[in-house]
Amino acid sequence: MTKVDIPMEKFYSDLVVYLIKENMQFMIDKIEMPKKHCTVIMVDDTILSTGFNRFKTSQIAIEFGYEYGEYHSELDAIIQVHSQIVDIPKHRLTMINFRLNRFRNLGISRPCSKCLSWVNKLFGNFVYTNTFGGLTKESLITGECHDIMSSEELREKFLPKTRQHTHAFS
Ligand SMILES: [Zn+2]
Repeated sequence: MTKVDIPMEKFYSDLVVYLIKENMQFMIDKIEMPKKHCTVIMVDDTILSTGFNRFKTSQIAIEFGYEYGEYHSELDAIIQVHSQIVDIPKHRLTMINFRLNRFRNLGISRPCSKCLSWVNKLFGNFVYTNTFGGLTKESLITGECHDIMSSEELREKFLPKTRQHTHAFS
């Protein structure tokens, strides 16, 4: 049985809070889609690229197998660094996904089957917001899945204080 790597999981959950709250806030607000999908590609503990879903179709998306050239956040992130990461062993590469709606609620962001078909070949780990709005870490090498943060904990950390208070009394 594999030991759960607590420090690494804490690292990822803190990082996702930081990304949503500070680092990517400006870009997230600019996404014109009602569902805002964000992807972060990491090698070890370093961010290599960030991607967002867009209202556009592209030739590269068609080449990656997206029938209508849909531009998913995973694709936006990978095309910036594809040539840099192809030679990096997959256990060092992590893809982080999260999805917010316009009310800033988190939704499931496990990659779709089209994205998974190429993500599987390149990445060793996924971190993504799950069905409950919490955070899950999944190994693409062993298939193991761990919930690393509950939705309550995640919401509490990134929602403004005033929202939490109004929520408590509504
Ligand atoms: Zn996708």
